[in-house]
Amino acid sequence: MNQEISKNFPKYNTDVLIVGGSIVGLSAALFLAWRNVNVIVVEKHESSSKHPRAIGFTELSLEHYRAAGIIDKIPQVNSNSRLRRAKVESLTGNWHAEIPWTPHEQENDKGILSPVTGAAIAQDLLEPIIRQSAKDFGANLHLGTELIELIENGEGILARVKNRKKNEIYEISAKYVIAADGANSSIREQLGIKIKGVGHLRFIRSVLFYCTEAEFYLEEGIQQFEIDQTEFKAFLTHYPDGRWVLMFNADHEYSESDLKSYILQALGRKMNIDIITTGTWEMAGQIAEEYQKGHIFLVGDAAHQLPPTRGGFGANTGIDDVYNLAWKLQMVLQNKNVGKELLETYHLERYPIGWLRHQQTFSRPDYLQWVDTSFKAETLLSSEAMEFGQRVNSTAVLNNDTCANLPLAAHPNIWLGHTGTRVPHAWVSRYEERISTIDLFTKSFVAISKDISWLDIAKRISKELGIDIEVLHVGIDIHFLDDKIFEELFDISKDDCILVRPDAIVAWRSTKQCGNKYNCFKEAFKKVTSYK
Ligand SMILES: Cc1cc2nc3c(=O)[nH]c(=O)nc-3n(C[C@H](O)[C@H](O)[C@H](O)COP(=O)(O)OP(=O)(O)OC[C@H]3O[C@@H](n4cnc5c(N)ncnc54)[C@H](O)[C@@H]3O)c2cc1C
Repeated sequence: MNQEISKNFPKYNTDVLIVGGSIVGLSAALFLAWRNVNVIVVEKHESSSKHPRAIGFTELSLEHYRAAGIIDKIPQVNSNSRLRRAKVESLTGNWHAEIPWTPHEQENDKGILSPVTGAAIAQDLLEPIIRQSAKDFGANLHLGTELIELIENGEGILARVKNRKKNEIYEISAKYVIAADGANSSIREQLGIKIKGVGHLRFIRSVLFYCTEAEFYLEEGIQQFEIDQTEFKAFLTHYPDGRWVLMFNADHEYSESDLKSYILQALGRKMNIDIITTGTWEMAGQIAEEYQKGHIFLVGDAAHQLPPTRGGFGANTGIDDVYNLAWKLQMVLQNKNVGKELLETYHLERYPIGWLRHQQTFSRPDYLQWVDTSFKAETLLSSEAMEFGQRVNSTAVLNNDTCANLPLAAHPNIWLGHTGTRVPHAWVSRYEERISTIDLFTKSFVAISKDISWLDIAKRISKELGIDIEVLHVGIDIHFLDDKIFEELFDISKDDCILVRPDAIVAWRSTKQCGNKYNCFKEAFKKVTSYK
């Protein structure tokens, strides 16, 4: 590193430095800043990529944005809307058949398992919303700024970054670094973290364009078209904001007139088209073998690169990563008695989910055709299981049974608030307001019970250990539609207690074996928070 450190910039200090300000880095900034953690984001570009990329943001991602209080800024889909695609000769030619994204799957009834319905918004339109919201919570964004190198210095990290316009280098000291620098993460490479998975499959050429005439063909309710001609295979998608994208095998360079003729071939007849931009992306499956090294965490595509599929396992998995990591960083940074072991649960919880999603993606017929014959396809899990029923297993969760034989994901109606799974959704009233159970578990640990003695104990332990535990007395602080619903939903008796983490994952449940309630709760709480 030859270039001098600039005198025109101060030396910055922060708790968390995020490298990469695309959808996952920005979401990390939002969740951390909302949790009152100091955060700086460095992003080498001045704004979002022109390629819209992700279009489907799942209910779980939206639940996280809802927790941070920004849900009203994101347009949601109707509860009966669904993503449909068809195999066609061309948009205006023969339509052969509708092909479901997941074979044999019944579309789930949106709005039953979650308070939100998901969003069909292009990634480049969602990013400005998240960016502004992160800024509003106090995140410090250094756009047009590139990470040059990271130096670990015992207690933290020193980053050298370059302001690209001014061509000047300056330094940022951080206690922790989040690498949200994408699939070709230079941080992952610098750390020597290996990747596994099906690897590179092929490069895809994307061409983004406007064509108002083509919108007439959307009236059937199908938005995605697999173009199937003898000499030409491609994928055509419409974004709700009026843009279209055509994708096909990128086996050579294409001139603008080549691109136009491919678009017309996919449309099936001459129409007025206006090309916005073009680029290539890699279809690949790779999962980092370590999501944490020292003070550095890999998130998003830096940790797991997966191609687009039903369920949106790219951006959405990344948003869920950083929701998982944000509260852990907050607790370690803001409570001197919370051990750094809590941060190790990030890898323990997220790596198996990344791998599960890799296996689920390439077990689908769409991708199975591209992978090596040695790949063993797995049984496809339902969207409900993948979305609402993933189970995490680490020291930040206390299991009363042996978890080894339990699946990593199952329908939430099977879990009923099992430890390691997301709390089930039901509508409740609190201070006369109708909210979801999911809304109850956002900022701190929460003890919930019908039995006040558990809640008194939780309050006492919270005071003793200096860590917030909110208490919820069912029937007093919150009301379910029917008195019995709480017990049925969580498969719990009226004398029991549940401890829920700030990411709405059940951390612990009392059992009949709890002799002394105080000792039982305290021991559990200290374990799941890695209390020193
Ligand atoms: C065609 C297509 C459709 C898709 N559809 C979906 C979908 O519907 N649902 C879904 O969930 N996912 C989808 N995906 C995947 C999704 O787009 C990615 O998973 C997502 O962009 C990953 O976000 P990220 O923030 O982790 O990484 P990226 O979006 O790759 O961002 C990394 C950022 O880091 C910055 N950066 C890199 N190095 C440095 C450095 N040294 N210094 C500073 N900044 C740096 C880059 O400029 C970039 O902005 C799709 C992808 C494609 C290509």
